[in-house]
Amino acid sequence: MQRYSLFSLARHALTRHRHWQPAWRTPTLRDRYEVVIIGAGGHGLAAAHYLAREHGITDVAVLERGWLGGGNIARNTVTIRSNYLRDESIPFYVKSVSLFEGLTRELNINLMYSKRTMIDVVQTSPKLREIRRRMLNGALHGSTYEPISVEELRRRIPPLTGGGPDSRLPIMAGMVHTDAAVCRHDAVAWGYARSADSMGVEIHQNTPVLSLLRGADGRVAGVQTPRGTVRANKVAVVVSGHTTTLTETIGLRLPLKTINLAAYVSEPVKPLVDVIVNCPDIGVYLSQSDRGELIIGGSTDPGQSFRRDVKQSVFEDSVAAMLELFPSFRRLKMMRQWGGTLDIAHDATPIVSATPVGGLYVSAGWWGGFKAVPAGGWTLAHLIANDAPHPLIEPFSLDRFRHLDYVMESGTTTAR
Ligand SMILES: Cc1cc2nc3c(=O)[nH]c(=O)nc-3n(C[C@H](O)[C@H](O)[C@H](O)COP(=O)(O)OP(=O)(O)OC[C@H]3O[C@@H](n4cnc5c(N)ncnc54)[C@H](O)[C@@H]3O)c2cc1C
Repeated sequence: MQRYSLFSLARHALTRHRHWQPAWRTPTLRDRYEVVIIGAGGHGLAAAHYLAREHGITDVAVLERGWLGGGNIARNTVTIRSNYLRDESIPFYVKSVSLFEGLTRELNINLMYSKRTMIDVVQTSPKLREIRRRMLNGALHGSTYEPISVEELRRRIPPLTGGGPDSRLPIMAGMVHTDAAVCRHDAVAWGYARSADSMGVEIHQNTPVLSLLRGADGRVAGVQTPRGTVRANKVAVVVSGHTTTLTETIGLRLPLKTINLAAYVSEPVKPLVDVIVNCPDIGVYLSQSDRGELIIGGSTDPGQSFRRDVKQSVFEDSVAAMLELFPSFRRLKMMRQWGGTLDIAHDATPIVSATPVGGLYVSAGWWGGFKAVPAGGWTLAHLIANDAPHPLIEPFSLDRFRHLDYVMESGTTTAR
């Protein structure tokens, strides 16, 4: 793999940057692989990287219907955190945050990883109670989550001038999660793709999978694409938001619903907030990018859909909520907005699991799955290689729905 460094940048500058190698190849699609991964998003590419690096499995094809890294990995608001509620979830996210910390070096690409701290603005007693439970549980698993006074909260977030004692929902408390970070999302996809490719994994863009194929023995046998049939002993469905449309082609119904989540970006302004601000009671969160834009996220759509645009009423709710706490932001112009399709399991916990179809694996239900990309890919690779779950994802198996062994995780960033 071509190494990126200050020295290589200077060397290529001398030849006007005309001799950089492509970051990944465009190989010819073969008709058989040991493993097919469907979806070149964060989780699919990370799984390919760890399959090759940790398990020596390189006869792998990643099939992507569009362009690499063009799905939700490019559409999220880049928040990385581990302040989850349940014993089953916290260790997984703590691991993911720790993998993120070393990822720039591991992948040799500048991910612009920046530890920012997330501050929760608490406005109701039930949320305060829930957030205290998160604090106590997080402490058991090494996730830092600490209370601060309202005065300290206002000091750390200067534009937070709403939510006073006479307002509809006065601010009651603040909670600080110092492990929270942001990082450049596309670079995560590019870094994993570049590394997997360099170890022999093939990435095929513009190759949609139309259906999953079953062999005479009932196991998965491969996939059907417009470019022909591709056979494989093992197939992983990692298509965030589109999981059910694929698994239903092999008769597998999953407890997932697909739902739209949107993000909004303002014009760039001077530095105003240097932390990620999360207001779970009113359903809005925001951070400021290096370019000065405010990146704002709100609640999901109320109903299920595969839409990727923005529902006007959800946009208005999010902006109205933000202006309650940040009245000065009413002068900001909005520059861009977009949506993505996520799938969500009934207990809001991901599914990383083998399925009743032998050789078929799914990684789905990633509601806030950007932060989970390193650990999600790492544990999925372990599952594919060993046909047995890594201990970190044992609670995320499909069996939990059969045994009513749910891992109930409510959203930490949005009210719905
Ligand atoms: C607006 C928004 C804000 C978000 N904010 C955050 C956040 O702040 N923090 C956080 O942790 N998470 C966040 N998320 C969630 C996060 O982006 C996703 O959970 C995560 O990216 C999903 O995993 P992925 O990267 O593998 O998905 P994707 O990047 O969507 O990868 C799936 C890939 O599968 C491909 N595909 C689909 N169907 C097929 C097919 N039939 N054949 C071949 N390929 C197929 C798609 O084209 C896509 O490239 C947000 C999501 C959205 C939409």
